[in-house]
Amino acid sequence: MTSDRCEFCEGEMEQRRIPARFRCKDRTINVEDVPAWVCMKCGAEYFDAPVYK
Ligand SMILES: [Zn+2]
Repeated sequence: MTSDRCEFCEGEMEQRRIPARFRCKDRTINVEDVPAWVCMKCGAEYFDAPVYK
């Protein structure tokens, strides 16, 4: 398994904290620092763990 590679372009992933927005029912929640994996090549963002609690 190549779990630390982007599934779109197979570029290298870097762990970063990014601002993210989650939708919960009819509300939108903004979270400042969400740990996520960001592709260095195409910029795709993957969230590590389910943060939408
Ligand atoms: Zn990529």
